[in-house]
Amino acid sequence: MKILLLGPNGQLGWELQRALAPLGELHCRDRHQGGDLADPQALATMVRALRPDLIVNAAAHTAVDKAESEPALAECLNTTAPAALALVAAELGAGLLHFSTDYVFDGSGDQARDELAPTGPLSVYGRTKLAGEQAIAASGCRHLIFRTSWVYAARGGNFARTMLRLAAERDRLTVINDQIGAPTGADLLADVSAHALRRWLAQPELGGLYHVCASGLTSWHGYASHVIEWARERGQPIKLAPDQLLPIPTSAYPTPAARPLNSRLDTQRFQQAFGLRLPDWQGGVNRMLAEILG
Ligand code: NDP
Repeated sequence: MKILLLGPNGQLGWELQRALAPLGELHCRDRHQGGDLADPQALATMVRALRPDLIVNAAAHTAVDKAESEPALAECLNTTAPAALALVAAELGAGLLHFSTDYVFDGSGDQARDELAPTGPLSVYGRTKLAGEQAIAASGCRHLIFRTSWVYAARGGNFARTMLRLAAERDRLTVINDQIGAPTGADLLADVSAHALRRWLAQPELGGLYHVCASGLTSWHGYASHVIEWARERGQPIKLAPDQLLPIPTSAYPTPAARPLNSRLDTQRFQQAFGLRLPDWQGGVNRMLAEILG
């Protein structure tokens, strides 16, 4: 099986390089290797020439705030390019695995949303990602779309690193406590994607849209507290006293793009369809901390 991976150097793409390698002949294409989502026509030409059996798209415009001031680029990367990929996939009879986000929802209420819940994106990023999902579904190609949330990876900058740096420097730190979700490791997402792909190849009727994230819930404040206390217990240089990590509402930290307050995703459909268990978020975060702190 010939697999094309787009966005191989992002958080998820990097882990997919590892997780997909045993499934077949893996071809990675970043934006300098014919995999530029900003040029959907050239992208389609590259895919036609390669003729993969499976396309995995881990590339996207993920800079949520920046997308507000460059909506045309966000639309091209998150909607037009996935639509073009879906059309070539349909033409070639290839499967397409694509990733989307909880930001397709408005984040109201306090219940977990399943795949049938009404969407209502609050931002350019959310709107363009939703339109990408819809274009793939409308294309008629065989596809899987995994909506996930709060993705982190040991590689590169991440929220945990930022919290550890600030906790080492400051006496007082404020972190948002009214956005609720599940921090999801790119490694977990890549691994369950590979398992699900194998099941899907044997059972094509499993295609469609799924919510996939770690189990359990926290806020950004809860996440920061977990990270800082983990590091403190292991003798890392933490200056911040435990009672000086202060919760603040989202309204006290305005950003160009509005974020959903409720990012709870119901993952039952995914776990049942693919016979997989999504572990609690803390285990993955602890592993990532052990990696970045050495
Ligand atoms: P990253 O920002 O880590 O990676 C995005 C990738 O897209 C990078 O490899 C980047 O390439 C690539 N990219 C950007 N512009 C282009 C372009 N013009 N052409 C080709 N590639 C491009 O994102 P994640 O790994 O975190 O996200 C993976 C998927 O998960 C995305 O679909 C995202 O929407 C979704 N998601 C992410 C969440 C998160 O919290 N991060 C939450 C929910 C969903 P380069 O390395 O060259 O910059």
